[in-house]
Amino acid sequence: MQVANILGIPFRTRGFEETVAYLTDRIEAGQRTHVVTANPEVVMAAQGNLRFKAVLDQAYVVPDGIGIVYAARWLNHPLRERVTGVELMTALMEQADARGWRVYLLGAAAEVVEKTAAVLSARYPQAQLVGWRHGYFDQTEEKAIVEDIASKRPDLLFVALGAPRQDEWINTHWDKMNVPLAMGVGGSFDVLAGVVKRAPLIWQKLHLEWLYRLLKQPSRWRRQLAIPMFVAAVLREKWTQRVQS
Ligand code: UDP
Repeated sequence: MQVANILGIPFRTRGFEETVAYLTDRIEAGQRTHVVTANPEVVMAAQGNLRFKAVLDQAYVVPDGIGIVYAARWLNHPLRERVTGVELMTALMEQADARGWRVYLLGAAAEVVEKTAAVLSARYPQAQLVGWRHGYFDQTEEKAIVEDIASKRPDLLFVALGAPRQDEWINTHWDKMNVPLAMGVGGSFDVLAGVVKRAPLIWQKLHLEWLYRLLKQPSRWRRQLAIPMFVAAVLREKWTQRVQS
């Protein structure tokens, strides 16, 4: 198993298509996988948070964002390409359509998850949308939510509660849900429902998607402080590698 270790987080090195093929085989074989799409914010959230770090250690972590791919290059653990949450979710939905998989959506605002379910049903008619629920619930409702998911027996569970909460949530309830593939997808339902637009292609190509998000949602600036901190931590790590070699 190929792993690129970035600031202690084990990223899988498969490219996009290989990742989709690998996960598809696991789902078909009934093997369980918790997929985490990790960007620099997620990596920084795991520094000093042992509970979250343990969640990432048992998950299948993919590089969500060009920052991770560059960091891997600097640290001499090359990753082929990025595997973003919304793209991986879309590719898995294509497989669900081809194979008649069952799909459950948890998270985002009520009207957003409803719209996402409608969009996915129209786009992937052979995939079975077996359940969806918004993500604004408290702890007293969790047992019923987990039971609902378990009773619907989905093949794919997409959880959009934002990182790191979504991945801690999957990890906490993992054993009771019996789902082959569970994945935290952040703001992907908002994108699929058309509430939030992804950056235009040219911004994506120039690797400036993070800047576009910041300009559209300036309230994210505090969270995006993780990006320069990530760069500084990677440079420190590179420096340490140099001194040691
Ligand atoms: N969300 C939710 N419940 C909450 C808080 C957030 O369902 O208590 C949803 C929110 O509506 C959004 C997603 O979680 O759809 C998080 O989106 P964000 O863009 O913040 O996630 P990121 O991709 O940055 O982790």
